Amino acid sequence: MTEQILAVVIGGGQAGLATSHELTQMNVEHVVLERGRVAQTWRGRWDSFCLVTPNWFCRLPGHHYDGPEPDGFMPRDDIVGYLERYAERYRAPVRENVEVSSLNPTDDGFLLRTQDSEIRARSVVVSTGAYQRSSLPAGAADLPPDLYQVDVDGYRNPNELPDGDVLVIGSGQSGCQIAEECLEAGREVFLSCGRAPWAYRRVADHDVTWWGAETGFLDATLESLPTPAARLAANFQASGRGGGHDLHYRTLRAAGVTLLGHFEGVDGGQVRFADDLGESVAWGDERHVQIMDMIREEARERGMAPPDIPAPEPFDPNCPTSIDISKLGAVVFAGGYRPNYQTWMNTPGAFDKMGFPIHSQGASSAFPGLYFVGVHFLRKRKSSLLYGVGEDATIVATQVATAGQLTST
Ligand SMILES: Cc1cc2nc3c(=O)[nH]c(=O)nc-3n(C[C@H](O)[C@H](O)[C@H](O)COP(=O)(O)OP(=O)(O)OC[C@H]3O[C@@H](n4cnc5c(N)ncnc54)[C@H](O)[C@@H]3O)c2cc1C
Repeated sequence: MTEQILAVVIGGGQAGLATSHELTQMNVEHVVLERGRVAQTWRGRWDSFCLVTPNWFCRLPGHHYDGPEPDGFMPRDDIVGYLERYAERYRAPVRENVEVSSLNPTDDGFLLRTQDSEIRARSVVVSTGAYQRSSLPAGAADLPPDLYQVDVDGYRNPNELPDGDVLVIGSGQSGCQIAEECLEAGREVFLSCGRAPWAYRRVADHDVTWWGAETGFLDATLESLPTPAARLAANFQASGRGGGHDLHYRTLRAAGVTLLGHFEGVDGGQVRFADDLGESVAWGDERHVQIMDMIREEARERGMAPPDIPAPEPFDPNCPTSIDISKLGAVVFAGGYRPNYQTWMNTPGAFDKMGFPIHSQGASSAFPGLYFVGVHFLRKRKSSLLYGVGEDATIVATQVATAGQLTST
């Protein structure tokens, strides 16, 4: 039997739950289909994972963080708890362990197939994750199959890695944090670095995230970036572990991590790296200076004392361009994510060359009734974040509700 539902939300993470909350407020009949359990993606993060953004940054509609540590950084299981409480609080109509295996447009909406049912819906909101599929570097296939290799989603802790040195490929937030904890566990760690911005954790008594919100940095749109591909750049390097601290190329090198250029592949028992570490660090420093200038300007406009922000220290770009593969125990891929909608959605023309939805205010430009929430830079830089996804959820839910009213009249 085919079930008929006005609206289906796919994904029970923060984006799907926030949208569902808003649909509930607007009395729109809907279900949330989640292939795992609520907050499944957060459940799968590594053991020591905690937020990079402070707890007060969790501002889902109707469920702002109200715990005892607004300036703390929730560990993995507390984030899951925060989202579980959200779903319970408004009795989210979530069906867990239901994976949507295909979505096809029909004359009057969409047909969704799951492992044991079919559902027809007038509107579908796709909230299947801001960061969907690990991006592996060209040359990864050259690594010998008997060398342990894992991506960020599969990584748990340093003890699960086979003995030997650890090579982390990718130097965004996750790569830096994993490199740091492997080093602390006594491993020799090599970090293959790319272009990543960085920021001081705290500036003038405020977390840098607060400055990001106040300066409008988090409200930047896709159109304000130099190119659409710039949305693939890493988020700024920092850590929330242990109450939050600076974590970037200079702190990692000072602690003992060997920094390297871009990974190039394997050649004659050696792993090869480009001689471009200096360029990558200079790129990150340039973004760092821009962010700090925004903060200075914001402080000036608020009449605050000029913040004391030290300039980046000189950086020695010299580093090895190869390492001996026989000493490696594990390789961790931390090169970011790409969308994977098109593996299960049969909606030609709905996505751009990079696989991101083509849309206006979250509504697909190709398929009326199809919406997206929780996409990196959907409307703004904060669209995929706990702080900003709610704004998009409200806008999308309003469109779903309006379409529903039109259908029923
Ligand atoms: C390593 C990392 C650290 C991050 N740290 C922060 C942070 O500190 N602060 C912050 O604000 N943001 C952070 N983010 C960004 C963002 O908050 C998270 O990526 C968050 O998980 C996005 O929520 P979401 O609901 O959009 O996607 P997800 O949490 O990925 O939820 C999508 C859900 O959809 C389900 N699903 C997928 N496909 C299907 C299908 N076909 N059928 C049914 N269900 C499906 C999945 O099981 C999942 O539960 C981080 C991201 C990463 C990758």
